[in-house]
Amino acid sequence: MSSLALEGKSALITGASRGIGKAIALRFAAEGCDIAVNYVTEAGRDNAAEAAQTAEEIGGLGRQALCVEADVTDPLAVEAMVANVIKTFGKLDILVNNAGITRDRTLKKLAKEDWDSVIAVNLTGAFHCARAVIEHMRERQYGRIISISSVIAQMGNIGQTNYAASKAGLIGFTKSLAREVARRGITVNVIAPGFIATEMTQAILPDIMAQIVPTIPMGYLGQPEDVANAAVFLASAEASYITGQVLSVNGGLYM
Ligand code: NAD
Repeated sequence: MSSLALEGKSALITGASRGIGKAIALRFAAEGCDIAVNYVTEAGRDNAAEAAQTAEEIGGLGRQALCVEADVTDPLAVEAMVANVIKTFGKLDILVNNAGITRDRTLKKLAKEDWDSVIAVNLTGAFHCARAVIEHMRERQYGRIISISSVIAQMGNIGQTNYAASKAGLIGFTKSLAREVARRGITVNVIAPGFIATEMTQAILPDIMAQIVPTIPMGYLGQPEDVANAAVFLASAEASYITGQVLSVNGGLYM
């Protein structure tokens, strides 16, 4: 028997061109999983090239990779993406809702567009993806749905009412869906990372970051691989009896 945790599985990971999504993609591939690398077109950067780079690294690990462009806010694009993934891999075992954005402003200055865009990507995007995969998973009586929430959902943060609401929404969504599909061999869980060293946290001003780091009991930012380790566990057979849970990966920031 193989010792790889995800041997023979296939996964769709949203926003997998960089950061935490990419780390999860590479770690899953290293555990024997074929990967659909979702990416979106963003102004000012070549996400297609970054996704292709992720796919090349997955190939280097001996697994199949499929780059799939889709904006998770677009339900038709998501449905087409999922159909493409199932056709290519023959099945889809694991969905990781990782795509996420921030538009940080205090409530006084928060435009409705800042609210709407963050909810649309972080929360409604996960809804679109889960809805697109759920029938397939129900039919196969197997599935793993993992959504990347945030410590901000648990403790709040100045300037992040929109982000906190979207990420807390993912937790309620997960617990409800977990109950709906618990008898169908499908588990639904959330990972709540603390501050992780990616482009998202590089955008935090240095003086603000200097105030944040001392509040982390471990005293440093996590790495994308720390989140990927938790994702592998939740996707693996060893987590078969775990559903509707929030797994915090935060260096003790919230406990
Ligand atoms: P990142 O900005 O590097 O990655 C975000 C990814 O989401 C990118 O690949 C981006 O292209 C993609 N994306 C954005 N909008 C999309 C859309 N509409 N459709 C498809 N893809 C889209 O940031 P990251 O730190 O790697 O964040 C990954 C996830 O982890 C996010 O959900 C984020 O909220 C969450 N998170 C990050 C931290 C942290 O400290 N970095 C902490 C907690 C949670």
